[in-house]
Amino acid sequence: MPRTHKTLPRLYVETAMSTGTEIALDKAQTNYLVNVLRRGAGEQCVVFNGRDGAFLARIAQASKKTVTLDLVAQTAAQTEPNDLWCGFAPIKRLDYIVQKATEMGAGTIQPVITRHVQNPRVNIDKLRANAIEAAEQCEVLSVPQIEDAIAFDALITGWTEAHGDRKLIFCDEDAASESPIDSLAALEGTRLGLLVGPEGGFAPEERERLLAQDFVIPISLGPRILRADTAAVAALALIQAVAGDWQPFIGN
Ligand code: SAH
Repeated sequence: MPRTHKTLPRLYVETAMSTGTEIALDKAQTNYLVNVLRRGAGEQCVVFNGRDGAFLARIAQASKKTVTLDLVAQTAAQTEPNDLWCGFAPIKRLDYIVQKATEMGAGTIQPVITRHVQNPRVNIDKLRANAIEAAEQCEVLSVPQIEDAIAFDALITGWTEAHGDRKLIFCDEDAASESPIDSLAALEGTRLGLLVGPEGGFAPEERERLLAQDFVIPISLGPRILRADTAAVAALALIQAVAGDWQPFIGN
């Protein structure tokens, strides 16, 4: 991927951006740029907001409390946000999963409360901060949408109304250990979703419910039982390589 200004800090901002305008950073961004990265007036960074692409910015004024940036030039045009929907049963390392899913091209991330979820309470604001941090690091131009948690039953019952023709790739730890490649290759060009269960796995009735849906594509992730966070990354790599945006350089 052509990388410009790769040595400069990248910051996600909420405000509209255009060349020649000035924007003010919030407290957290000011702290990161000034106190953590020790940048000051005259130095540069890259800013993006998920709507106007990326801009090269010069620090016009910096203090421990406030920073204003002059937007020098647009360095990347806004790209379409990713479309991949990712449902993860909350686990202790859900923040890790959100970071990895962002890096791997998730467009929407939604916690799914299944029967064996140990702690259904999810801090959506914290997950969004994880997604923003990951987006800043991996140079995407959009931050994935973090949706409020949804109960497994509501997800399945409301799937078609909420997702139309999107297919749901179900990581089935009880599936026969066979190659998922053919199932995934058949999905190229289709709107996709991914569902990964909790540490305790899916309950039998949840697995039966999923396997009975025509929008569900069950896949095995091989002969070993993976931790949920490992399974999330493994599944995302498979999906992107066989049916997603890794295609252009994987080539099939
Ligand atoms: N403790 C459970 C496994 C849970 S693993 C048990 O022993 O059955 C957590 C989640 O990761 C699973 O619900 C599934 O979605 C995914 N996963 C883990 N290993 C997998 C595999 N080999 N194939 C498909 N999905 C897998």
